Amino acid sequence: MNRLNVMRPWLGEEEVAAVSEVIRSGWVAQGPRVAEFERAFADKQMIAHAVATSNCTTALHLALLVAGVGPGDDVVVPSFSFIATANAPTYVGARPVFADVDCDTGNLTPDTVNAAVTDATKAVIAVDQGGVPVDLASIREFCEPRGIVVIEDAACGIGSTFQGKPVGAGADLAAWSFHPRKILTTGEGGMLTTPHREWAERARRLREHAMSVSAAARHAQVLAPAEEYLEVGYNFRLTDLQAAVGLVQLGRLDEILTRRRELAKTYGAATSLISGLRPVQDPVWGTANFQSYWIEVLPEYPISRDGLLGLLAEADISGRRGIMAAHRQPAFSERDWGTASLDNTERLTDNTLILPLFHEMTDAELDRVVSVLRTGGCRHG
Ligand SMILES: *Cc1c(COP(=O)(O)O)cnc(C)c1O
Repeated sequence: MNRLNVMRPWLGEEEVAAVSEVIRSGWVAQGPRVAEFERAFADKQMIAHAVATSNCTTALHLALLVAGVGPGDDVVVPSFSFIATANAPTYVGARPVFADVDCDTGNLTPDTVNAAVTDATKAVIAVDQGGVPVDLASIREFCEPRGIVVIEDAACGIGSTFQGKPVGAGADLAAWSFHPRKILTTGEGGMLTTPHREWAERARRLREHAMSVSAAARHAQVLAPAEEYLEVGYNFRLTDLQAAVGLVQLGRLDEILTRRRELAKTYGAATSLISGLRPVQDPVWGTANFQSYWIEVLPEYPISRDGLLGLLAEADISGRRGIMAAHRQPAFSERDWGTASLDNTERLTDNTLILPLFHEMTDAELDRVVSVLRTGGCRHG
């Protein structure tokens, strides 16, 4: 039997050919392929502007900068997220304040945000955790009268929908990831999207040392125009090598989604017959891409979450503990991160696990996982 990993990116000869073409062109850094990838991504996600970045963490950093967040400001974030969500506000000198999540979606709600906001709150980062769309409209409705900017951390959200549109389409700022653990990959890579032209232009400059003329534009001319550095910027660039892969991957998105949702449906039907397991589901306002297919191990299940992970490992199946809780990590546990209760976060982080789900997973492989879940459900004591 082969090892079943939690995720395996779907890459093929088309990506190999696309990278080869870029290498043969002689221009491998940020250039025409990045611009093409940005345009294609913006169109697909139904958002006016897309700015490619080196990863989602740097996209979140830029989002906070263009939103004007800085020292002395608070940024409400879920503790129940990959650590980058909480790290981003610290890069601009702001304080991450942790809010709890809803147990069904694993996401922020207006109530949990309300329990965490302070007089200094300047922004909220709402995550589409594991690809489950967050109810962004309700959170914006709560935040906007208070002058709070809502940034969507859509790292896991490509292909998920909210009220019939791609997630991110209704956000002032959204950040995306192309890490291999996500739905589409460029090795490392990210994107910042926004409907606001000035924010996109500033982000585009900031990701390239805040140069007034891009390196690609300077290279296009024999006598390169003199550039100016308008503020202190960063090197958060994606390369044309990565963008070429991204363009092929974007073309695979619809097929990936269809298969992922099919596999998730089979998981859902099977786990609903096992007492004590609660699978993640689509919320009423949208559809998930099931980037992380998680189940909660309830008290009535005969063995614990960690016991079940062990049982899966014995069958050479690599599950994962559910999403982490940032407030428990040494990087944040000693900091002042606010006073909101994080009971649901702790319940989910302690009792959920992520099952293998990837495009090329076969029905037989899925059955292998389900049979372990059944065996665990028949244990006594
Ligand atoms: C993966 C992830 C990130 C970080 O993405 P990178 O591209 O690796 O920087 C940020 N937020 C969430 C919710 C993630 O899952």
